[in-house]
Amino acid sequence: MTTREAVQSLDDETMACAELEQDPLFHKIPKDKIPYYVRSSLARGREAAVPFIGRDIRELCEEAGLRYEITSRSGTFHKVQFRAQIDFAKKPPEIIVYSDSLAGLKQSYQAVVGMNSEGSELARLIDIHLAHEFYHYLEYQSGKFTNEELEPIEVFRVGKWFVKRSSVVKTSEIAAHAFCKELTQLPCLPNVLDYEYLMQNKELSKEQFSGRVEHWKSWL
Ligand SMILES: [Zn+2]
Repeated sequence: MTTREAVQSLDDETMACAELEQDPLFHKIPKDKIPYYVRSSLARGREAAVPFIGRDIRELCEEAGLRYEITSRSGTFHKVQFRAQIDFAKKPPEIIVYSDSLAGLKQSYQAVVGMNSEGSELARLIDIHLAHEFYHYLEYQSGKFTNEELEPIEVFRVGKWFVKRSSVVKTSEIAAHAFCKELTQLPCLPNVLDYEYLMQNKELSKEQFSGRVEHWKSWL
């Protein structure tokens, strides 16, 4: 099976589970609530994309007065490598895309999406990351962050009356992935590119990944 065939079998719900699993409070999410978080976040991202389908993401940023900077700075903070981020401290917020870290994704892009016209992969990868961050901008603008709109989970409880609840932050990431997929017409959620990258760089074996995929599917 080629990567592209394999990608066709990676549906959005499965890849949303991959993202949800990274939530710092994932172990607190009741198993029977996983489909709720996955489906509601995907639906929110897709709905948010409807008015913008067919539009160019860079034009959308410009129209929104949203600045974006494409930089070759490393994007590594506290040992975590960022590919893109949005700075809400700036008015209006500013998107920063770390182009060096995206350059490493070119091969994954070719494997997952296919060959683009010569040399245009980096531009497409930048668009993909801009689209993801644009969703966070829409959340910020509306004051409705996906995680805050969905049901909170119980983090701990003391006796009958004291219950601490928290939102599931990764639902916002799932929605941003779904938004990005719709807007940029990807064949799958964009986090597939990250897994393909890990496999190409032997940080994750194909067997390990298939094992995870089966596991994620079992939650749905
Ligand atoms: Zn994000």
